[in-house]
Amino acid sequence: MAGTRSLLLLPGDGIGPEVMRQVRRYIDWMARKRGIEFTVEEGLVGGAAIDAQGVPLTDATLEKAKAADAVLFGAVGGPKWDGLGFDMRPEAGLLRLRKELDLFANLRPAKVFDALVDASSLKPDIVRGLDVMIVRELTGGIYFGEPRGIEDLGNGQRRGVNTQVYTTAEIHRVARIAFELARKRGNKVCSVEKGNVMESGLLWRQEVTALHRAEYGDVELSHMLADACSMQLVRNPGQFDVIVTDNLFGDMLSDEAAMLTGSIGMLPSASLGAPDADGKRRALYEPVHGSAPDIAGRDMANPIAMLLSLGMALRWSFDLHTEADMLEQAVQNVLRTGMRTSDIMQPGMARCSTSVMADTILRELDKLAA
Ligand code: NAD
Repeated sequence: MAGTRSLLLLPGDGIGPEVMRQVRRYIDWMARKRGIEFTVEEGLVGGAAIDAQGVPLTDATLEKAKAADAVLFGAVGGPKWDGLGFDMRPEAGLLRLRKELDLFANLRPAKVFDALVDASSLKPDIVRGLDVMIVRELTGGIYFGEPRGIEDLGNGQRRGVNTQVYTTAEIHRVARIAFELARKRGNKVCSVEKGNVMESGLLWRQEVTALHRAEYGDVELSHMLADACSMQLVRNPGQFDVIVTDNLFGDMLSDEAAMLTGSIGMLPSASLGAPDADGKRRALYEPVHGSAPDIAGRDMANPIAMLLSLGMALRWSFDLHTEADMLEQAVQNVLRTGMRTSDIMQPGMARCSTSVMADTILRELDKLAA
């Protein structure tokens, strides 16, 4: 596989380019110290693309994204582009990528690093050791279902409509990812819906159960209603390994789980498509955070979410599990020394910049690789 690994970097706006710069440094480190090379291309997306190319994502960049083994996305958006119409906003670039690459499964790990156990708003006892993976269906459900729209009823009243709709195939493909993931982790899947009040939720439960019975009987499967799950996530999050859920509930539950960890600057994510004939999936990796215009250009952003997003790419797109483990270990070790960017700063710790955090992680990797 050496020499054939291709990455498209789309840094975007705000802190996107600053954190992506650290990814470049890590990629160079991999080539120098591990002999693992990537073919790297870079493109514009979001506000940066609007300014230079007139649209948030050009067809040419989209084609590069389709051709790459993995896309690494920074963040898009900022006040400069807030007044633009919906289709011309920076976020439209990301939505188009997700749609055109058919990225139907969004993986959002919520992991609490030991050194940051006090950063959570929950008691340390509740979040210590937390390691939950939320698999959210990303291209179906109520955000895309028809009919939709706002209708004028002509009597001074209006009516807003969205439709929650799922098919067997849509449920199976995302559930399959959850089961496969669970096999590599704690071997437990909790499927979440509102089957008590929604037919689409009932279908979800039945189809996940059928797939489990047919192909994944070795994985422990449980079911939970979405409202109960949101309570359990703050009450006893340690009970979960992999949660699989639809687009709407996944949107909310993944943000809730993210907050258990205490910092948005630490959280990576992956969005995966269907495997092609060679078993290779289209994939886009990005930090959960946005473009953080309030700190952009000040070398203050935490680069860890972006670096861990690359870590997910190493695992999911390139099968480089040893290197992914090393990167996570390096992050753990550096946090243990007390080094903190301002978003995760705590009393008695040492505040550092984006670049110094990345320098320190690279030095730690040197030690681990020695
Ligand atoms: P945000 O995530 O950009 O920032 C929220 C807060 O977290 C800010 O105070 C910011 O300084 C801080 N923060 C975020 N990432 C950080 C990091 N790596 N290190 C340190 N601090 C960090 O969310 P927002 O303020 O709601 O949105 C800002 C812009 O980003 C908006 O234009 C929004 O549309 C866009 N956005 C983009 C994406 C994306 O590209 N996927 C996601 C969310 C928001």
